[in-house]
Amino acid sequence: MSPRHSVLVPVLCATLALPGLTGCGANSPSTPDTSTPMAPEAMSSPTSPDPRNTATTKPGIDLSGRTVAIDPGHNGGNASHPKEINRQVPDGRGGTKACNTTGTSTNSDYPETDFNWAVAQKLEQELDDAGAEVVMSRDDNTGVGPCVDERGTFADDADLMVSIHANGSESAQAKGFHVIVAEPGSSDAVEDDSNRLADEMSNSMADSFTPNTAYGKNAISRRPDLAGLNNASVPAVIVECGEMRNPGEAKTMESESGQQKYADALMQGIVDWY
Ligand SMILES: [Zn+2]
Repeated sequence: MSPRHSVLVPVLCATLALPGLTGCGANSPSTPDTSTPMAPEAMSSPTSPDPRNTATTKPGIDLSGRTVAIDPGHNGGNASHPKEINRQVPDGRGGTKACNTTGTSTNSDYPETDFNWAVAQKLEQELDDAGAEVVMSRDDNTGVGPCVDERGTFADDADLMVSIHANGSESAQAKGFHVIVAEPGSSDAVEDDSNRLADEMSNSMADSFTPNTAYGKNAISRRPDLAGLNNASVPAVIVECGEMRNPGEAKTMESESGQQKYADALMQGIVDWY
């Protein structure tokens, strides 16, 4: 997996002293091990802080042992490959739909795929900092696809899947985020946990952003037609982070600080779901 992950546990151990973590040098004083005395330099020293401790890890967040799947919607190469992305693939409900789409953009032509990718990378970093394994549906923002059916199945080994998008309503008055969940789900258990994930995402997003309740109560939309969600075997939601044609929201989406704010809200929703 990512080399960043391999250095994470010592960082967490040194900074958070999390309960339940073992192997972090927290020897029990009641059971001293006299057979292998520890060299002083091998023990953690408060006077020599690890420079890696400047990471953005938030104290108290420990997702070690968890696996989170992130799907940054669309892809940077989709627009120049219409034949591939218009190819029909299974929609998870017995029909077909196009492999993928190009996504929307702001009025200044900032593409949705760039926004989705930027937020996904920041979220990946936050999850990695918290000790989680992260599975991504795509490795860069220059390729084509993957198709929507694969955007459900790539996450089979994960605890949950979050698909990141932004919406492109024609009206510049449209404002706010909404969360989409499959209905019906692929099984009762997945449907229940997906609904809970939608609730947590909506709540955490609403702490920082406007909920667009035109899509449903608590800005949660239930749809049978989205192949990524239909094909997911784990709890899954799509978060439409905002409206790209809304000038105010476009400004936030185009800024790095705004993208970080979206990633923070998604991270909180994931933590709350666990
Ligand atoms: Zn999209």
